[in-house]
Amino acid sequence: MSNEVTFIHLSDPHLIAPSKQASLYGVNTNEKLSLFKEVFSSLPFKPAFFIMSGDLIHDGDEADYQYVKEFIRNCEKQFQAPFLLTLGNHDRRKAFRSVFLNESKSEAPYYYSKTVGGVRVIVLDTKIPNEVNGEVSIDQLNWLADILKVDTEKGTIIAMHHPPIDDHLRNKAAFGNMIEGTDVIGILAGHTHNNCLFQFHSIPCTTVFSTAYGMEELKNTESSQNEYGTVKDRVGSSVEQTTSETNTIIASDNKETFDIKMTQTTGFHKVEVKQRQMIVYPQIVTTENSTIF
Ligand SMILES: [Zn+2]
Repeated sequence: MSNEVTFIHLSDPHLIAPSKQASLYGVNTNEKLSLFKEVFSSLPFKPAFFIMSGDLIHDGDEADYQYVKEFIRNCEKQFQAPFLLTLGNHDRRKAFRSVFLNESKSEAPYYYSKTVGGVRVIVLDTKIPNEVNGEVSIDQLNWLADILKVDTEKGTIIAMHHPPIDDHLRNKAAFGNMIEGTDVIGILAGHTHNNCLFQFHSIPCTTVFSTAYGMEELKNTESSQNEYGTVKDRVGSSVEQTTSETNTIIASDNKETFDIKMTQTTGFHKVEVKQRQMIVYPQIVTTENSTIF
């Protein structure tokens, strides 16, 4: 058996049940994710598993998760590989638990550890209800410390929605101290809708593009330089259907706003685990159909 394990990391699909006929910033997020399914059908390698690191839906309900579930079950069947799911700030735990786990509707965080092909994947739930930023709860930190006492054969990958960078993860120092010196060989996150690689407590950490659309925060930049128009989004807001001409969303209350630039760039990461190292190969997925923006 090969010592190498290859898998795929994708994130932030923000799916919406087709029956709602809604789009995000003029983007049909379902169609965008379907492009990925096509790309996965012709990969020159076989992924052992997929990690989808959160924002599976966009502030929706059971209907959205039914759609996500159908999509994922189809993929699992087609690619003969499991999807490991992480929840993000736009997910809804109660609806997720009800649809995916057939459980009663509870706000209990969804975290677990699963070993696939000798790689231990630890999935954390960093969502704080009604907030954009996240944290690793004390319960999860304690659970993590316990699990990481035992090393694994090929190393541990942590999947979490909020990356431990900037203000995205409130208690990143406590989290970093907890995993330093353990067999964690990499951290995979989403949330930023862009592609970024950094070291966190000497551990490689990446965020990956959203499958729906890329996003860059505009800092001291003229809005007119924005290729796709500026989007005004309230931090933590529930985004309404957009007005497609301007891509402008009016904040629904008076909380702080920021400007973000939307990009067409989407993609995923091919990830290899080899000799207790995580190697990440960013892949761009292009779309012919730019009119969906
Ligand atoms: Zn997102």
